[in-house]
Formats: sequence, C-alpha cells, structure tokens
Amino acid sequence: MRLDAGRTHVAIPGPSVVPDRVLAAMHRAMPDIYGGELVGIHESVFARLPAIARTAGRPFVAIANGHGGWEMALTNTLSRGDKVLVLESGQFATLWGEAARFDGIEVEFLPARSERYAVDPESVEAHLRADDTRSIRAVLMAHVDTATSVRNDVAAIRAVLNRCDHPALLMVDCIASLGCDRYEMDTWGVDVTIAASQKGLMVPPGLAFVWAGDRAWSAHQQADLRTAYWDWTARASDGPMYLAYNGTPPVSHLFGLDEALTMIDDEGLEHVWARHAALADAVRVAVDAWSAPDGLELNIIDPSARSNAVTTIRSGSIDVERLRSTCATAAGLTLGVGLGPLAGSGFRFGHMGHVNAPMIMGMIGTTEAALHALGAPLGGSGAAAAAASLGRSMSV
Ligand SMILES: *Cc1c(COP(=O)(O)O)cnc(C)c1O
Repeated sequence: MRLDAGRTHVAIPGPSVVPDRVLAAMHRAMPDIYGGELVGIHESVFARLPAIARTAGRPFVAIANGHGGWEMALTNTLSRGDKVLVLESGQFATLWGEAARFDGIEVEFLPARSERYAVDPESVEAHLRADDTRSIRAVLMAHVDTATSVRNDVAAIRAVLNRCDHPALLMVDCIASLGCDRYEMDTWGVDVTIAASQKGLMVPPGLAFVWAGDRAWSAHQQADLRTAYWDWTARASDGPMYLAYNGTPPVSHLFGLDEALTMIDDEGLEHVWARHAALADAVRVAVDAWSAPDGLELNIIDPSARSNAVTTIRSGSIDVERLRSTCATAAGLTLGVGLGPLAGSGFRFGHMGHVNAPMIMGMIGTTEAALHALGAPLGGSGAAAAAASLGRSMSV
C-alpha cells in the first residue's frame, strides 16, 4: 500500500534540499540593481565566498550550472592547443575533459583503477615525470566524484606536482564536495576551484562559483580561449556591481545565497564538515549492515576515500529500479540513480547540505522497509546500525 502522503524527501545528490530559510529569503520582489540593498548583499556574498573554499583567491559568480563553472575555469586560464591531464575517477572529471576537448584543448585522460578507486597519486607521478617537455598546462580532477562517491586526495596530487617540479595548474571540481567534505584550497595548493549552488551550498541550481589563486590569475593574462561573457578581467573590473555578473545579477539567487552563507557561518564550517562526516558514517554503517552475498555493498572500497556528501551503493542481485520505484511511490523517498558503470546496477544516497539525523534515519529506515518489501537479501538491520552510529555522534 502507499504510505507516501506527507512530506516527501528527494535524497538525490543534487539538487539538494533547499532550507525553508533560503526559500523564504528568495521569495521577494525584484529590487533595484543599480543601488540600494542589493549592493550590500552582493558585497557581503563576495566577501564571504573565499572562506567557504578556504582561500585568499578571487571568487567569481556566474549565472550557470557546474558545467558553466568548468567552462569559466578553462577559458580563463588556457589557450587553444594547450594540453591538460584529466585524472578520471568516475564520471565528472571525464565530462570536464570532454568539454575541454570541445573548446580546443588537447586532453589526456588518466583513468583510475576502476570505478571503485580514487585517483592513484603514483600513476599521476609517473605520468608527470614522463612529460619532460612540460607540455601539460593543467591537471583537472574532481575532489568528490558524484557518480562513484569517491573522494580524491587533492593535497597528495599537489605533492606530486611539487615533487616533479611540474608547473601545471591544479584545477579542482568541488561541485559535490564544497560545504560537505573538508576542502582547503590554499593549504592544499589548488590554483582553481569550481563549485555550484545546488549541492552543499543549499541554493537552487543556477549559480556557478570559481575561485582563482595567484598562479591562475597570472595564467589568465596569456589565455587565448577567453570569451567576453566568461572573462575574469571584465568581471573583476571596477564599476557598478552588475559587471561582476556581466549583466543583470541573479538577484533571487543572491538573496538565497546570502541566507545560506549565514546558515553556514552560524553553524561554523568546521562543524558543517563534522556533521556531514557523522551523518555519512551512519549511512555507511547502515549499508555495511545490510551487506549480504548478492546483496548491497558500498561502491568505494577504501574507507578513507569515501565522500561525506554522497554514497554510491552497488545493488548486487537486487532490482535497483524496483527498489527506487518502491521507495518513491510507496513511501515518498526519491533515491539517486546509478550513473556510468553503475547505471542499472547501483543507486546513490545524497546527504549533502541541509541534512540532519532524522532525515538520515528516514532515508535509511525507508530504504530498509523497501528492501523488506522486495524480499531482498539482507545481512542485518541498517537502521539499527545507523541509530547506534548517530547515538555515538550525539553523545560527544
Ligand atoms: C553535479 C556535479 C557536476 C555538474 O554540475 P551541473 O550543475 O549539473 O553542471 C559536476 N561535477 C560534480 C562533481 C558534480 O557533483
């Protein structure tokens, strides 16, 4: 029978749940864009963005999705025919590399061992050492890949670049991880960071964020892929506030982002990361408890390479489309589809941004109920394991 009347939960890894406070902040009449309150909101947002990426670099905000952020990063730093090295670890770095190729960049792909592993720093090192002419201009990677739920070790890749004394820029896609998994742009030596509004930042889709460090800003001076709309120089020029957006500002999104940044500041970024870790731990112990031969299993093998924003589960013999549709129609819970190599053989829990213990328990408990409804092989109760894990977190 259907038990879905009531508040439903879309637990996909982006767009994530938008807090009522953010929705309410966006529900406003259009303001004057040439003066007044919006100017202060714009300034306050730009002043707070560097801290979210832990950088002293310049933030840029575009009316775009994450793909637009990729394009802004590439076109502002590179020239036609430049070579980049893409560190594949699932789906998203690969798509970014394909966009780079379309834009006229020469692209080398370095695959991970499989969709169950993080980028291997040793193979990156071997690849960079072989580049004796230093023709690779940038290394592109995803911090967290949202298809596999792997979290890559960004600092380890910077260490490899340093050991090889290689001048390539390090560009990191943090679209899934920003505001969820610890990310330290400057300490880790990242030159360009990319994010989007609709995941850990808790705002509807529509804003892309790019942070540029000093080395990226220098590369920008020579880049010949620059285009009028994305251009950092135009967006950084002195003058009225709308120049930063190359046109009309995304006013409703700015109202929402201002509120979301206030929520993050009030909680404290360190605590935001710790909350995501505690909630993700509960999800992971639940999946481990469910695990059974031919049943469910965490996709990422190395526990230290699992993201706190999203968890990808391999579904074994379980009919994943029936599991997802049972959750959705019978219970009002929407789970993320498997992507890439896990299309049809896996699913994903999003736990990014505006999530708390009851949302996690609801998601895990409801999934467990659907697994019972399907007669799926179950090693034990994931809900009990998740509750025990959350209890440990709540007691400290
Ligand atoms: C969601 C996501 C993207 C794509 O973002 P869009 O806003 O859909 O363009 C890219 N990379 C990662 C890691 C993501 O999670």
